Amino acid sequence: MLKRGDVIKLVRVVTETHETEIGCDECFEQLDSFAEAELSGAKASAAMPLVGDHLDKCADCRSKSEALLQQVSVDMTHIA
Ligand SMILES: [Zn+2]
Repeated sequence: MLKRGDVIKLVRVVTETHETEIGCDECFEQLDSFAEAELSGAKASAAMPLVGDHLDKCADCRSKSEALLQQVSVDMTHIA
């Protein structure tokens, strides 16, 4: 059971997350996990909305993430 204080904390985190934007450095740091989530069939942009948001706006990081996605899927093929 969530206590009232916990709910308020949770709402605050969600709200703050919505108002925050990450920069290219932070985005890049999280691209690995983002690509892995994406390839595992999870909605990566739902799990990591800030990264998804940044990729929407930043062509530079988007091309990096696309390259990374290809790289990771190649790696996965090698393992399988
Ligand atoms: Zn960027």
